[in-house]
Amino acid sequence: MDDVTTAHSMTLLPPAADKCQECAVDHPADWPHNPDSLFYKVKFNIDHGRVPTWRDAWAHCTPEVRRSWFDLLQPKLADLGMQPLPADELLDPDVVQSGGGR
Ligand SMILES: [Zn+2]
Repeated sequence: MDDVTTAHSMTLLPPAADKCQECAVDHPADWPHNPDSLFYKVKFNIDHGRVPTWRDAWAHCTPEVRRSWFDLLQPKLADLGMQPLPADELLDPDVVQSGGGR
């Protein structure tokens, strides 16, 4: 195993200027980042040392926007047989992290 090389650093090129600078997706600034964006996952991991969650993706959103996305996502997650999002933790503005978009 002496020939195995391990890299502990990553470099990201910036997204296109007309895309969200956090997730590299074209979305309104007051909408959540796309937590499935590979760019967002890598950038967030570089900045915070962990994988982002929905809580992180909509931390910069107003409570009303978070609620509308939460209400939109819950039935879709159920249709896919996935765990529901924890409402108390996700919608409480005191527990979300700060984070901007563009
Ligand atoms: Zn974004």
